[in-house]
Amino acid sequence: MSSITRFAPSPNGLLHVGHALSAIIAHDTAQLNGGRFLLRIEDIDLERRRPEFVAAIFEDLRWLGLAWEEPVLVQSEHFNEYLAAADKLIGMGLLYPCFATRSEIAAAADPETADPDGAPRYPGLWKGASAEQIGERMAAGDTPALRLNMDAALDVLRAKLGDKPLTFTEIGEDGTAQTIAAEPHRWGDAIIVRKDVPASYHLSVVVDDARQGVTHVTRGRDLFAATDLQRLLQELLDLPEPLYSHHRVICWADGRKLSKSNQDMGLRALRDEGATPADIRKVIGLA
Ligand code: GLU
Repeated sequence: MSSITRFAPSPNGLLHVGHALSAIIAHDTAQLNGGRFLLRIEDIDLERRRPEFVAAIFEDLRWLGLAWEEPVLVQSEHFNEYLAAADKLIGMGLLYPCFATRSEIAAAADPETADPDGAPRYPGLWKGASAEQIGERMAAGDTPALRLNMDAALDVLRAKLGDKPLTFTEIGEDGTAQTIAAEPHRWGDAIIVRKDVPASYHLSVVVDDARQGVTHVTRGRDLFAATDLQRLLQELLDLPEPLYSHHRVICWADGRKLSKSNQDMGLRALRDEGATPADIRKVIGLA
């Protein structure tokens, strides 16, 4: 079966060799069986995105020798569609407004519980708030985030799947398929619509993967746990389930992650020093 894959960078910095690994794996997975490779610009973070980083993504990927289908989907042009998906969840009674600040959450959270990203698990401050409490904050001009009522969402999931557990299929480097049990409750009442923009990473990813017909999501292991929440959203929204492959993440020898702010392993910097695309493949173990 030919697959549709995507590379989905956020344009808030220059790409490094870790991005090259992600992009090449997505590209080669599609190429392998005559599939399609898509590029998606995940720029819902309007504060951090920069047009020059979008241009640099195109240029660096071309330099690597990758070709993708046009037009490129740019998420900031599709907020209405993320809101339509959020509306569906609202209609199911699964989202609630939350006006809590980060520091209020940190102060109230149980220090023993964190979500898979290490952030304090939301302590339910606005869960069950009265219409009056919400109205007061709205009248004062405050915008809420919308959070998933995880308990209610899991009830809907149980009603839909019955005894069948929520799972996803992980395809390993050797092509073998493994069924992984998803544990979305670890994310607690996650944010589905942010305060500052009418979307969130998890919501926009599942909406776009479905809309673009992505059949095989390839991305770094750092997003492995995110798949649990994204599988839940796919079920709640009746979206198709893609295959997943979470590849190794390139780190410094001491285990630190590469970052966009530190450009020592940046594709630009390496290219300026005379590296060729073949050298990059060697550096990331794909030669
Ligand atoms: N935009 C995400 C990132 O740059 C990747 C999203 C995904 O592959 O699901 O980390």
